[in-house]
Amino acid sequence: MDFTIPVEKSVQKDTTKRTFDLEKIRSDFPILERKVNGKQLIYLDNAATTQKPDVVIESIKHYYTFENANIHRGLHFLSELATESYETSRLKIKEFINAMSAAEIVFLRGATEAINLVAHSMCRGNFFDDGDEIIISEMEHHANIVPWQMLCERRNVKLKVVPIDDNGDLIFEEFEKLLNPKTKLVSITHTSNSLGTVNPIKEIIDLAHKNGVPVLVDGAQAVQHGKIDVQELDCDFFVFSGHKLYGPTGTGILYGKADLLNKMPPYQGGGDMIREVTFEKTTFNDIPNKFEAGTPNIAGSIGLGVAVKYLNSFDINDIISHEVNLLNYATKKLLEIDGLKIIGTAKNKSAVISFVVDGVHPYDIGTMLDTQGIAIRTGHHCTQPIMRRYNLPATARISFGIYNTIQEVDYLIEALNKILKMIR
Ligand code: PMP
Repeated sequence: MDFTIPVEKSVQKDTTKRTFDLEKIRSDFPILERKVNGKQLIYLDNAATTQKPDVVIESIKHYYTFENANIHRGLHFLSELATESYETSRLKIKEFINAMSAAEIVFLRGATEAINLVAHSMCRGNFFDDGDEIIISEMEHHANIVPWQMLCERRNVKLKVVPIDDNGDLIFEEFEKLLNPKTKLVSITHTSNSLGTVNPIKEIIDLAHKNGVPVLVDGAQAVQHGKIDVQELDCDFFVFSGHKLYGPTGTGILYGKADLLNKMPPYQGGGDMIREVTFEKTTFNDIPNKFEAGTPNIAGSIGLGVAVKYLNSFDINDIISHEVNLLNYATKKLLEIDGLKIIGTAKNKSAVISFVVDGVHPYDIGTMLDTQGIAIRTGHHCTQPIMRRYNLPATARISFGIYNTIQEVDYLIEALNKILKMIR
């Protein structure tokens, strides 16, 4: 069955916004009620993954209870219903990031798969000549390093890295210097998951474009904390993971400008991505189906649409000011602790704080906070080059979401003080 996305149809826009009532918001997330190690859970690991509101959980249950069928394939009632829900979710995501068309939205497993898709496809599609260069930065997540290294191994292409300064800010002049006629792509994070640095992404894109270079933005830590408008940014690709914006795991999005996606060969072969198959030759479907081989995560992608709708039900400025408050308050309180140093003090920061404490291993901090029901992250955060940059084996990291409270920060500080007193 040939299926075309109902591009003309627009999802109903919700213009009325919910008031930012923290108590009510917390009650949307059932897991926040649970206890861990006999203590009330305090979840401060939102950069790793966020918790899910009940509307998202319910949407998945609803799908499997009432709509489950394979999409784009059957003429029967359930298949059409599932297809409609899946494609409506695509429209919601198109509007969420203001893409020009739903065909520019590819459902994938996450940001990692999205970057791998672009790298593989550009590699297969001969987008690179011998000696070409790809620019990334020193603050990238491994997901935005390794796929490019793998590409460089297959083609005679070099990876160039923009350094960061001691605060964790990108050194813009170095970026400017690295851009040259051999540069074929800039792939850069919007927001660092370890340092919290928010990059001047619009300036980066504009400068790259002035040099005729397309830009992939890793938005995994950005979409949940501010408004993303891909047309305004004018980025060529934008990737993010559903599970970091209150949606299901195993979901994610590749946004790509239609003219680029049209030029790129498929990433994987299989069902749904073809137009016609013979043993001699296969012709491919249009975008985005060309990049969605096989049965996708239908329930998850529908859940992601619901998560986006949930996030959109708030005024984004309320979310931003709430998270900035948490960031500023926690930063101030943490710095009052003797021997504690924050890693990542960029001018423009997101709600992520990495820190180390003199003489105490971050793992001990993480393990002992866990006994108090407080979930933080310790380790290299999939950014080993950053750890090397600061000559650290690991950091402890707290990261905030929409449901965190000042009171939770107070509990964290109290617990940290107790733990450090014990260890010392
Ligand atoms: N980029 C950044 C900046 C991230 O923080 C992450 C996840 N920590 C990723 C990419 C990869 O996301 P995922 O594992 O969901 O594919």
